[in-house]
Amino acid sequence: MVILNAAFAPAKFRFRVDGITYAVDSVNGNAVSEKWLVSQNRKGGWTTLNLFIVSNARGREGSCTRPTPENPLEHDGCIVASGFLPRGDRPIDSGVPEYNLGISAVHEVGHWFGLLHPFESYQCDLNDDCLTTGDLVCDTAPQATESTTCDLTKDSCLGNGPDNVSNFMDYSPHAW
Ligand SMILES: [Zn+2]
Repeated sequence: MVILNAAFAPAKFRFRVDGITYAVDSVNGNAVSEKWLVSQNRKGGWTTLNLFIVSNARGREGSCTRPTPENPLEHDGCIVASGFLPRGDRPIDSGVPEYNLGISAVHEVGHWFGLLHPFESYQCDLNDDCLTTGDLVCDTAPQATESTTCDLTKDSCLGNGPDNVSNFMDYSPHAW
């Protein structure tokens, strides 16, 4: 919660815990069906963030629904694998970048707010139209590939500014 509130404070969003439910469930704990997990367990309305911490998110850091007409309230929620939380076991292998500082939850909640990846369309802006490609945000540089390092010189769309390796919505390791 501390990490989420710090990350979203500049946007003037603040979260508070309304309740925590613990469960031992091998199906939901492995996010076998994310829609089932969310629909059977979520609480509250559209302004209630339902954040599910699971043992395994099918090999991913997590997932989250975006607020689109295709996603009904029953599917509204975010899932994060426990290994990507602070002190999680994700980065212990040598050579694997750090992904256990809590930024995966920030990333997924960013999706919950409707944010896209800066590399969303995997291409540089076509005709310089930032409103139809990438993350649809014009103050982020066009980016053709996700980032897996913190290389501040990475520039996948040459001449358009360095990639968004410090952007929560990229795939960079958590420590920059
Ligand atoms: Zn994402």
